[in-house]
Amino acid sequence: MPASAPSAAATPAATDSAEAAVQAISGSAEQDVTFSLELSQDQKDIRDWVHGFAVDVVRPAAHEWDEKEQTPWPIIQEAAKIGLYGFEGMAQFFADPSGLGLPIVNEELFWGDAGIGMSIMGTALAVAAIFGQGSPEQIGEWIPRCFGTVEDVKVAAFCASEPNAGSDISALRTTAKFDEAAGEWVLNGQKAWATNGGISDVHVVIASVDRELHSKGHAAFVVPMSEVKGISEGSKVSKHGLRASHTADVFLDDCRIPAGYVLGGKEKLDERLARVREGKKSNSQAAMQTFESSRPTVGSQALGIARAAYEYALDYAKQREQFGRKIIENQAIAFTLARMKLEIDAARLLVWRASWMGRNGVPFQSAEGSMSKLKSGEVAVWVTERAMQILGGNGYTREFPVERWHRDAKIYDIFEGTAEIQQLVIARAISGMHIK
Ligand SMILES: Cc1cc2nc3c(=O)[nH]c(=O)nc-3n(C[C@H](O)[C@H](O)[C@H](O)COP(=O)(O)OP(=O)(O)OC[C@H]3O[C@@H](n4cnc5c(N)ncnc54)[C@H](O)[C@@H]3O)c2cc1C
Repeated sequence: MPASAPSAAATPAATDSAEAAVQAISGSAEQDVTFSLELSQDQKDIRDWVHGFAVDVVRPAAHEWDEKEQTPWPIIQEAAKIGLYGFEGMAQFFADPSGLGLPIVNEELFWGDAGIGMSIMGTALAVAAIFGQGSPEQIGEWIPRCFGTVEDVKVAAFCASEPNAGSDISALRTTAKFDEAAGEWVLNGQKAWATNGGISDVHVVIASVDRELHSKGHAAFVVPMSEVKGISEGSKVSKHGLRASHTADVFLDDCRIPAGYVLGGKEKLDERLARVREGKKSNSQAAMQTFESSRPTVGSQALGIARAAYEYALDYAKQREQFGRKIIENQAIAFTLARMKLEIDAARLLVWRASWMGRNGVPFQSAEGSMSKLKSGEVAVWVTERAMQILGGNGYTREFPVERWHRDAKIYDIFEGTAEIQQLVIARAISGMHIK
C-alpha cells in the first residue's frame, strides 16, 4: 500500500459489517452531498434563456453577418435589451459560486453563432483584465463603460498581441513611459489582431514599462478612445472564420493618458517593479493573468460550436438515405457520431472543472485552465470537420452552416494561446521544468 493511501476509516471496507456498508450507501439521501454535476434550477433557467436567444435571434442572423463581415450592432443591442450583454448580466454569470455561469452562457450563445457570439462576448477579455488587475474604483468606473448602455451599446478591446509578439508576449515592443512633469503616461506601439480594436471606447493595452524586466515589466493601461488622442485603428483583418467579429490593428502614437489609468494604480505598479528589480518574487504578468482566468470560458465557446455541428450532423444522418437506408445505419457514420458526442462531453467536463477551480480559488496545479481550452479547441476542429464529412457535398457548401462552423472552430486552436503553447504550459506545470 502506498504511504499516502487513504486511512482505513475512510474506506467502505472499514465498516463493521455488510449491513453497515449497505446502510452507508442507501442512506446517502440524508448525507451532505458535496459533489454533483446536476445543474441547479437557476443554471438551467439561464441556459434555456440564452439558448432561446441563440435560436430566435442569433442563428437566423448568422449567415448574413458572416457574409457581411461586420459587427452585428443590432444583435448586440438586442442582447443588451434582455440583459444578456451588460455589466449586470456579466456580474450575475460570474457570481455563480460553482463557476459554471459563464461557461454555460457561452456554450449556448456560441451554439447560435461564434462570430456573433464573439461580438457579444469579446468585451469580456477587457473586462476580465480590469476585474483582475484594477482597483475597486477602476472596476466601478471602467467595466460599465466597456458595455455602454442599452441605448448606446459599446464594446471593449484587450490589446496584448503585436506583429512580433504573439505566443511570445514577453517580446512586445509597445512602451509606456511616465512623463513626471505632466503626470501622464505616454504610450507608443502597434497592437495586432485586437478583437473590437478601434471600434471600442475602452481599450485595455498591455505595454512595457521597463523592457529589461521582460514580461514582469509589463502593465495594463486603460485607453478610452473617446477621451484621448494618439490611439487609432489600423487595418481591419479579413478572416477565415469568426467573420462577424471585428479584428484589427491598433496604433498608439504618443498617446497620453492620465497617471491613474494604469490598472491597479501607479503606486502599486512602482512597488511591484521595485520588488522585481530587487530579485524578489512577483506573480503578476499583465497579459498572462488575463488569459489564465479566461481560458475555460474560451473553451466553452469552442464547445458551443462543436455541439452545433454534432447536433446538425446527427439529424442529417438520421434523414439522409443512400443505398436504401439512412446513412446513420452504417456503423462508420454512427460510430463517428458516438465519438463526437463523447469528445464534446469529455471536453465539457474539463471546462467545468477548470471553471469551478478558477471561481473557487483552487490553484491550477497542472494547468487545468490550459487543458480545458486545448481539449475544447481540438474537439471543435475535429467535430466540425467530421460533421462536414457526414453531410458530404452539402457539408462543403455555404448553403449549409457546417462549413461556417468548421471555419469558426479553427481559431480555438490559435488565439488565447495556440495548441502548442497550451501544451507547453501543461508540460511545465506537470514537470516543474522549463520545457522549451
Ligand atoms: C481572430 C483573432 C482574434 C484575436 N484576438 C486577440 C485579442 O483580442 N487580443 C490579443 O491580444 N490578441 C488577439 N489575437 C492574437 C492571438 O492571440 C495570436 O494570434 C496568438 O497568440 C498566436 O500568436 P501568433 O499569431 O503571433 O503566432 P506565433 O506565436 O507566431 O506562432 C506561430 C506558430 O508557432 C508555434 N509556436 C510558437 N512558439 C512555440 C513554442 N515555443 N513551441 C512550440 N510551438 C510554438 C505556434 O503554436 C504556432 O503554431 C487574435 C487573433 C485572431 C486570429
